Amino acid sequence: MQISPAPRPLPEAAVPARSSTRLRPGFPRASMLPAGPCLAVMAARYARPVRVLVDMDGVLADFEAGLLRGFQRNFPREPYVPLEERRGFFAREQYRALRPDLADKVASVYEAPGFFLNLEPIPGALEAMREMNDMQDTEVFICTSPLLKYDHCVREKYGWVEKHLGPQFVERIILTRDKTMVLGDLLIDDKDTIQGQEETPSWEHILFTCCHNQHLALPPTRRRLLSWSDNWKEIIDSKREVLWRGPPGLGLLHA
Ligand SMILES: [Mg+2]
Repeated sequence: MQISPAPRPLPEAAVPARSSTRLRPGFPRASMLPAGPCLAVMAARYARPVRVLVDMDGVLADFEAGLLRGFQRNFPREPYVPLEERRGFFAREQYRALRPDLADKVASVYEAPGFFLNLEPIPGALEAMREMNDMQDTEVFICTSPLLKYDHCVREKYGWVEKHLGPQFVERIILTRDKTMVLGDLLIDDKDTIQGQEETPSWEHILFTCCHNQHLALPPTRRRLLSWSDNWKEIIDSKREVLWRGPPGLGLLHA
């Protein structure tokens, strides 16, 4: 009589997922997967919404145009930097190079009450945010760094979001000086280099084109969003595809 060996326990990765990692509507069904039920369970572990972090200044709110307008209004006799000549993330440093005393003058514009609240939206930003928020399997957060002189900036950033996007987006504000510590899949941001405590942030940085970064040549591994008319949906979809595949070598959803 032949004795069958005792069934081996399932590998950890094949243990059924808890509710938070179940397949969501719209995610690939088991029938769409290339192999048996174990792969389906493993794929479910990676099938989760794409989390998009969207910067505020220079991406949603037109900081540079507001700054130039405010500077020309407050200091009409002083030289200024036209938007097409802006270089470098920090306007204050470019004004300092133009003439040292202009650094404090330009800073006085964005540190003044009302500056952040009255910034104009970047063209197409509000519509894109609403559409992104309605996309299936997509989570949107506004991830923004307040000034160190936060007296007006913090309150006005909240006010701006409520005024232009409504209270549901106020719930989605993440204020931080260090974006590397925030978990996400994509960070859409106009700052060309984003560094912090975490050397390997979880997100892919998508550089949002702005006057101060448009001249920069990016390495081929980095991606740009030229404006909100550019194909931001394609970027999100490409990230979703990578998530569904799982880590390299796992073979999920690979042809
Ligand atoms: Mg910004």
